[in-house]
Amino acid sequence: MFKKVLVANRGEIAVRVIRALGEMGIRSVAIHSEVDRNCLHVEMADEKICVGPGPSLESYLNIPNIISAALITKADAIHPGYGFLAENIYFAQVCGDSGISFIGPTPDTIKKMGDKIAARQMMKKLGVPVVPGTDGPVTSGDPDIFKTAKKIGYPIIVKASAGGGGKGMRIVKSEDELKDALDIAGGEAKKAFGNDSVYFEKYLDEPRHVEFQILGDKKGRIVYLPERDCSIQRRHQKLVEESPSTAVERSLRRKMGKTARLAAAGVKYRTVGTVEFLLDKKENFYFMEMNTRIQVEHPVTEMITGIDLVKEQIRLAAGETLDYDSDDIKINGHAIECRINAEDPDRDFIPSPGKVERFISPGGMGVRVETHLYSGYIIPSFYDSLLAKVIVNDKTRKAAIAKMRGALGEMKVEGIKTTLPLHKRIFENEDFVKGDVYTNFLQKHIFSI
Ligand code: ADP
Repeated sequence: MFKKVLVANRGEIAVRVIRALGEMGIRSVAIHSEVDRNCLHVEMADEKICVGPGPSLESYLNIPNIISAALITKADAIHPGYGFLAENIYFAQVCGDSGISFIGPTPDTIKKMGDKIAARQMMKKLGVPVVPGTDGPVTSGDPDIFKTAKKIGYPIIVKASAGGGGKGMRIVKSEDELKDALDIAGGEAKKAFGNDSVYFEKYLDEPRHVEFQILGDKKGRIVYLPERDCSIQRRHQKLVEESPSTAVERSLRRKMGKTARLAAAGVKYRTVGTVEFLLDKKENFYFMEMNTRIQVEHPVTEMITGIDLVKEQIRLAAGETLDYDSDDIKINGHAIECRINAEDPDRDFIPSPGKVERFISPGGMGVRVETHLYSGYIIPSFYDSLLAKVIVNDKTRKAAIAKMRGALGEMKVEGIKTTLPLHKRIFENEDFVKGDVYTNFLQKHIFSI
């Protein structure tokens, strides 16, 4: 097992990983930027090291500085968290070349799954259903685009091959919008990911986003865990996640889970990851992408399975194996997570950095809060706006909703704007309470009011 692990991240996920390391008896090293000296993860870690100024490119994305920090502190592994360098092929490669274990997949696996076009093609070959769409990249200059789009049928969605976080996507309702959409999405993708390659696929009508957590070990065993429903989204970004899904019963769970396993086996997956699907109203499901990292929403799965996914990820990276199968997993009630962001819902969700004058965390049985917040903390303007994740677990979905309402009511974040009021509205919505959710739920029920 590792003796010392450097956590190449900040915020709530750095706190989460440092806690897991502490429980496993592994020393932790926090990295931080100049503006993050007073961050909770820095306070909690056994050792700390500054890797550069505030802007992410100069600190949390600064590969030479991070690798130097790991070598100076003699860390034997790096946990990348999510975002930043978690799915950076080059970083995973440099870690290996420097004799440091990367807690995640091999560079080759990241590469295979990081390109959505290549991943789609690979899944098709494996017999995993994908949304009908183009087989390769397309540009507005291609002579066949109109014919292809017509064959797939409008509406279609243009997506960036290197996409992530809902960026580089455009919905196209008719032929006259197609060329512009390809150019705009390509431009957005170039800016966000340095790669302008785009493709398109059928835009499904009110699907659910249903994903499966999977774990793989060096012996080739692959375990899938019960699904997460992440249909409550804003601009294709998740806001609320729950497990299990109200749309998935036992036989569909098995069918989708086994398909997720097939997808993971196809790339010889040896760590934790997620296979994402879209599920339509007729129970057809389609592979969307595979995320080769720990995800923001992992705690809902932990709450209902009792499996600590971060510890599993560390164990697997150290060469340990899985001693359970998907059929051994029992679902313990229902879990829901709300992502609370420092954004102003009344001003088109603009980020709201600044000083948190007062923070009161909710608590009680079955309530878990993953956060780096404390009263007096100054949120810098450089990074992601995720402030806290409130996770609840109870015997039934109804009880979990009641628990979440209580938790959201107890939580106070003063001095800045947050998305707490939006979450409160979601949990009062009748359709949400009935479990009738799909990916454009917020647009239809909340923003239309
Ligand atoms: P990203 O990698 O940016 O998160 P995804 O491919 O995972 O992008 O898609 C994010 C969200 O976009 C999905 O959860 C869904 O809401 C929406 N979406 C993506 N593809 C489709 C599609 N073909 N039809 C309908 N909605 C889609």
